[in-house]
Amino acid sequence: MAEGSLEAPIRHPIPWQDPDFYDEAKLDEELRRIFDICHGCRRCFNLCDSFPRLFDLIDESESGELDTVSSTDFKPVVDACTLCDMCFLTKCPYVPPHEFNLDFPHLMLRYRAVELKKGEIPWSERQLTETDRNGSLARPVAGLCNWAADNKNRLTRPLIEKALGVHRDADLPKYHARPLTLQAKSEVPEVNRAAPAFGRKALLYATCFSNYNDPDIGLAARKVLAHNGVDTEVVYPACCGMPQMEHGDVARVAETARKVAAELRPRVDEGWTVIGLVPSCVLMLKFEWPLLCPDDDNVKALSAATRDIDEYVIDIARNEGMAAGLKPLDGGVTLHIACHARAQNIGQKSTELLKLIPEADLKVIERCSGHGGSWGVMKQNFEVALKVGKPVARQARQAGKAYLASGCPLAADHIRQGMERIDGEAAIPAETHHPIELLAKAYGL
Ligand code: SF4
Ligand code: SF4
Repeated sequence: MAEGSLEAPIRHPIPWQDPDFYDEAKLDEELRRIFDICHGCRRCFNLCDSFPRLFDLIDESESGELDTVSSTDFKPVVDACTLCDMCFLTKCPYVPPHEFNLDFPHLMLRYRAVELKKGEIPWSERQLTETDRNGSLARPVAGLCNWAADNKNRLTRPLIEKALGVHRDADLPKYHARPLTLQAKSEVPEVNRAAPAFGRKALLYATCFSNYNDPDIGLAARKVLAHNGVDTEVVYPACCGMPQMEHGDVARVAETARKVAAELRPRVDEGWTVIGLVPSCVLMLKFEWPLLCPDDDNVKALSAATRDIDEYVIDIARNEGMAAGLKPLDGGVTLHIACHARAQNIGQKSTELLKLIPEADLKVIERCSGHGGSWGVMKQNFEVALKVGKPVARQARQAGKAYLASGCPLAADHIRQGMERIDGEAAIPAETHHPIELLAKAYGL
């Protein structure tokens, strides 16, 4: 048997409309087939908590093989998966087109889709993933929500933990009273007609996070792009569905994909590039949506037109060249490379972006932060999420830089929280940043 494929890796469409996808006996057969291969391979032992749980389960069984492990014990293995995609992309030699046809993250997704269909994913766990509903409801009372959700609030957080299962110590994103889409209407930066890249046009897909929680990311991106001659518009048809995907709701994500792609198709056909501000959302538009809707031309066209913000800026830097005006940032930057940025197979575009800043002093960490979206804040996962992210937090603490950045804002906040649990002399940055915010700062925008 060949170790690894001679062909470039591919990913098969997710057959969520096939009744076999939800057939529990067939799912169990596939879990056993893949778990057995992983048991013999073990390359992924230190990527997350799923694999150590799987290997311990098998090693501690009666025969030390999978045949004496009960399928009812598989759930903790699945529960520890954050769908970061790192096993598929960075370790596994058996991904398609290899005949083993192994896609561990999508197997975990299938398990969750079956759980959801059986009504086994608790109502409380799904409430955090309703990002559009939550953002719209929280906006008019953002101050009150932020007070209640602050993890220093010992009055409300135990109640939230009881009602929604969110760990009382987990940092939660703050809500903003004025979403990005609203601010973008009144604050339109002037496009620099003298910039080398003048003439480009791009739609900034706000993402639920930048829209409701941190509009500054979108505003910074818009200013940097305008300074570089790019005409932008902010759009936000709906959340990309990654939060629902984490809970196996593939049908709903596919429905969102079709709707959003149909809405944006005319703009794509006019030549607008679609730029996502958060890597997970970009990953959805580029890769997961086409795998869920392989026959939808709108989804395909949107996928081809989508770029990560850091990827887009580097495309300008390489082709037309950046507009002048970047100045050094004092104190250096610890940069975390988000898993879902790595999963796009675009190289370290965040690193390249920050290296555009003169005298850039960078400590780059390319390892999973452990947060896993809404997964890492849940009561049963929070300590595991901190454990998985501890090597990253330790390196960031030791680096002692003035800034902490990640393309994934949730990862950055999670790392920051992990740093607070590690001894060190240098001050922990009070805030975290998206790389594009630091580029805007270096431009003095
Ligand atoms: S997708 Fe990420 S969290 Fe899930 S099993 Fe693979 S490496 Fe672990
Ligand atoms: S996912 Fe692939 S690389 Fe990782 S343990 Fe399983 S077989 Fe090995």
